[in-house]
Amino acid sequence: MIVRLDPLLGPGKEEAGARAIVLLGPPGAGKSEQGRRLAMRHGIPVISTGDLLRDHVRRGTNLGVQADTFMKAGKLVPDSLMNPILEERLSQPDCAHGFILDGYPRTLAQAESLDMVLKKKGLRQYVILLDVPSERLLKLLTGRRVCPLCNRSYNIYFQPPKKEGQCDADGARLIQRSDDKEEVIRRRLETYEKETQPAINYYVEHGRLIRIDGAQTPEKVAAEIELKLGPQ
Ligand code: ADP
Repeated sequence: MIVRLDPLLGPGKEEAGARAIVLLGPPGAGKSEQGRRLAMRHGIPVISTGDLLRDHVRRGTNLGVQADTFMKAGKLVPDSLMNPILEERLSQPDCAHGFILDGYPRTLAQAESLDMVLKKKGLRQYVILLDVPSERLLKLLTGRRVCPLCNRSYNIYFQPPKKEGQCDADGARLIQRSDDKEEVIRRRLETYEKETQPAINYYVEHGRLIRIDGAQTPEKVAAEIELKLGPQ
């Protein structure tokens, strides 16, 4: 990870040429894996709204307690809770060199709101869709296991850990997230179709969507993303 410290940069003082890389795609399409790779390569943080919300839930913040009910039901957290949590995170100094967004926007309203936030910050925006056929998604989702310590994710069908049930990095016992259960998954996929598809259409209409075949290996997906991003 490249750590850049610049005393002149702080909240609201974004680096010239900094970019916001937005990762879109259905749940299970590999957004977090690609987010991690991008973060390493570009030395910018990846902001996962799912992780951000779970962190608020864990800490028992006022917003987190309210968000929890929606997350457990596989529903989207309302913008009145989601947007303040995200804006607070994006105003932290480590986001001044740019950032990667994983899991936001998920609705047309969020796409429009993000456009305004990024315009104010003067960041260039790259919207990348990881496209995955729906039959593959269910296996991807029901097979997902995560490490409770380092957050690394695996898939028992496509990307198993070296030792069954154990994280390769730290040996912790892998878990299935409560929102990865089949009934909840079905609802999350429906929510994606209903809520997020209009956001994708919005980017298509504005000629801003970079579509990537998300069924390829993570390496190929990463290489294609780099190609589309071009030099800084
Ligand atoms: P996945 O990417 O597998 O769908 P996430 O970890 O990104 O899972 O999100 C988990 C849950 O957090 C979602 O089901 C939803 O309830 C909530 N969430 C995450 N991002 C958003 C968002 N942008 N707007 C509203 N709710 C969100």
